[in-house]
Amino acid sequence: MPEHGQQPRRVPCPTCGKPVEWSEQARWRPFCSERCRLIDLGEWLDENHRIPGEETAGAAPPADDESNDR
Ligand SMILES: [Zn+2]
Repeated sequence: MPEHGQQPRRVPCPTCGKPVEWSEQARWRPFCSERCRLIDLGEWLDENHRIPGEETAGAAPPADDESNDR
């Protein structure tokens, strides 16, 4: 029994809030795109979007050297 006349359900993208049609074409549902999905998963480092200040650029001072001082 085909359910024609039924509107596609829309859900807000959990990352950006953009309405996403919940259909088979919405490949990244409930996200609007692959990017938003990766952002939510915290795996979007490949996109060259790094948080400024988060990277220590190899200038990390030595910490926790106590064990060597005993
Ligand atoms: Zn989104």
